[in-house]
Amino acid sequence: MTTPSARATEITGRLAPSPTGHLHLGHARSFLLAWWHARARGGRIVLRIEDLDTERVKPGMIEATLADLRWLGLDWDGEPHVQSAGEARIAAAAAALVARGLAYPCTCTRAEIAAAASAPHVGESGPRYPGTCRGRWPSVESAQSATGRAPALRFVVREGPIEIEDGLHGRLAFDVARAAGDFPIYRRAGSPAYQLAVVVDDAWQAVTEVVRGEDLLESAARQALLQEALGLPRPRWWHVPLVTDEHGRRLAKRSDDLSLASLRERGVDPRAVVGWVARRSGLKSARDAWPAGLVREFALDRIPRTPVAAGPLEIAELAAG
Ligand code: GLU
Ligand code: ZN
Repeated sequence: MTTPSARATEITGRLAPSPTGHLHLGHARSFLLAWWHARARGGRIVLRIEDLDTERVKPGMIEATLADLRWLGLDWDGEPHVQSAGEARIAAAAAALVARGLAYPCTCTRAEIAAAASAPHVGESGPRYPGTCRGRWPSVESAQSATGRAPALRFVVREGPIEIEDGLHGRLAFDVARAAGDFPIYRRAGSPAYQLAVVVDDAWQAVTEVVRGEDLLESAARQALLQEALGLPRPRWWHVPLVTDEHGRRLAKRSDDLSLASLRERGVDPRAVVGWVARRSGLKSARDAWPAGLVREFALDRIPRTPVAAGPLEIAELAAG
């Protein structure tokens, strides 16, 4: 696989926003942590716009995302990589897995999967897939012509646990076969699924450090399986605690009053946002600052291991500067 630059040994972190809604304080925090972690060690940062989930991508959100990141004082090396522009590369990886018998077409609907799952295990991405279509169709074309609908592609998950190492969580074992079963790498709508896209593009962008929210910890195990099958290197992973609202609920993209756009409209200084994140990320005496001003003091292993609450009090603190 060719990479845009031959820098595979260099430290490279990444920011990988999805343009599905306005960025909020939770994104600000994970992006700042990713940025500090790479920059503190003299590394590069690449930006990737994850726009493949076409049903959820909203018009104008790519520009809005870039504006939010710049407002925070974050920068990146090279041009942003818009994931859909490299879809052929992801399709080629999927085709290679199918050719090797490591992925197969699946014509099941959501309702069929829910009905077939014997012990309904609702994991991160719905019920476990029971393997209905494994070995069922001789080819993608035959699956399509037999049912008249475009099949999804599912990855053949091997039995048994897979171990991953996380910089904050240590060594962990996940049994993906039991929890999720054969998971999709292409969706029935014909677009690549997140798990495959992220693995192909992290390798293509020579990413060595993945710092992102804890909600993706289980995904790391699936990604490790795909990396193993495709012969791609594993990045180092750090899954960081999420920002929650005052009730401990995870922030959603619709948490509009915590969106960076609305803080900006209310006249909040971006340096106050950076300082707010920094003080909750092990930089106890940090003042309001641009991200670059805090690089030297930053160490990812000093961040608290508990979620960060952002309720009305915190917002008032931000607005007060
Ligand atoms: N684009 C994903 C998100 O915004 C992040 C994916 C990743 O970091 O692997 O949730
Ligand atoms: Zn199926």
